[in-house]
Amino acid sequence: MRRLRNVKIVATLGPASSDYAMIRALFEAGADVFRLNMSHGSHAEQAARHAIIRQVEADTGRPIAILADLQGPKLRVGTFANAGGETLIEGASFRMDLSSAPGDASRVQLPHPEIFAALEPGASLLVNDGKIRVRVKDCGKDYANCVVEVGGVISNRKGVNVPDVVLPLAALSAKDREDLEFACELGVDWLALSFVQRPEDVIEARQLAKGRAAILSKIEKPAAVKAYDAILQVSDGIMVARGDLGVELPVTSVPPIQKRLVRGARAAAKPVIVATQMLESMIEAPVPTRAEVSDVATAIYEGADAIMLSAESAAGKYPIEAVTTMNNVALSVEKDPTYRSVIEASRVVMRETISDGIVAAAREIAEATNIKAICCFSQSGNTASLVARERPHVPIIALTPLMSTARRMALTWGLHNVITEPQDRFKGAVLAAIKAARTDGFAGEEDMIVVTAGVPFNVKGTTNILRVAPCDERLISRVEPE
Ligand code: PGA
Ligand code: MN
Repeated sequence: MRRLRNVKIVATLGPASSDYAMIRALFEAGADVFRLNMSHGSHAEQAARHAIIRQVEADTGRPIAILADLQGPKLRVGTFANAGGETLIEGASFRMDLSSAPGDASRVQLPHPEIFAALEPGASLLVNDGKIRVRVKDCGKDYANCVVEVGGVISNRKGVNVPDVVLPLAALSAKDREDLEFACELGVDWLALSFVQRPEDVIEARQLAKGRAAILSKIEKPAAVKAYDAILQVSDGIMVARGDLGVELPVTSVPPIQKRLVRGARAAAKPVIVATQMLESMIEAPVPTRAEVSDVATAIYEGADAIMLSAESAAGKYPIEAVTTMNNVALSVEKDPTYRSVIEASRVVMRETISDGIVAAAREIAEATNIKAICCFSQSGNTASLVARERPHVPIIALTPLMSTARRMALTWGLHNVITEPQDRFKGAVLAAIKAARTDGFAGEEDMIVVTAGVPFNVKGTTNILRVAPCDERLISRVEPE
């Protein structure tokens, strides 16, 4: 199965998307990566979703990335007696405390003693992505009595931001450490770290993951925006986590920050996801708003690797329609001639290594001739990322013997990932590339492809060979050197 677009789609799973039929339908509609949100659901539920995704992968034969999103030191309210939550009215009193008793319209648990220790009368607390605002009237070491300034519906485990107070929080909570170990043992491909503030936070998670999963940093704190270059350097990928970013900083600062983060990650050849509220109205409606379609399109024009659905696919009424909408927006944008010119104008020119030269040459050959695909052999995925950074106009087929590499690369712009036998001769590699290109419908017998690889094989090192090959195996057998 082949996608007809470059940008990848990340779909968060949740109560609305947990059985085989739904997850398979989301994959068929276009989801390339599934996100398990560790803030919600039990380990047993996440393990069940993980097993279903791997079953869909086995049944469809296409590597799928699984991203476990760690909650991080995110502050959340407890639960309510009424599962639908409560409506807070402007001017009403509302209390937050440490009691685990189910909440009601007058109070709820806020299970974070460190907030009460740091709060002062006059501070504001924002709930549910900043939709609700309450102000502290008086407080003690285990409670805060507040008055509702902006009302709305508050429900189970909604997020809380405290923009006015500096909270001394560790990068990974005890829950995060447990979730990290659980997710790595399960075999997820990516770990997303929430509320990263410093590069050290990422290094700490990497030490715990021990190579079992790649590390993606969510940029959602003002401190992370400031330290972006250093955080990017120690991360394998980035998420522009616009929900919390737009609560902690003025919403009007989010679009320029998004542009800067996407550009930086592209330059570093690391995948970047644009996330949150992309199709928010589709939680309740089968069609998006014009503004949402524009927002998705903007991320694609910026050259983001992936666009993400949160509640739309996890808890909304129309998960399949939401994925289909993203897929259709991508098809529409990517066939616009302006898309090509914007992508080309924003290409990062790197001329530092042999690999940089080879991938640039592959793209230039593709531009000058009628070749049908760039096929690259990649062990770690590094060369495949460099080809993707070129943002070529022909499809990229990334071939690897390693399932873990193929799955991780499902997040990267334009990569069609294929598992091959380990290669030891370049001729065999060319034949494997031809087979992949033809099996998946990228090229016919009379077409040509570009193949890049590192020779000798199975020696860690640089890509150093580029071949323009005909897709007719008989020609290869006759002329190709061993
Ligand atoms: P969250 O992260 O959904 O885990 O909060 C995304 C965001 O903040 O945008
Ligand atoms: Mn967040």
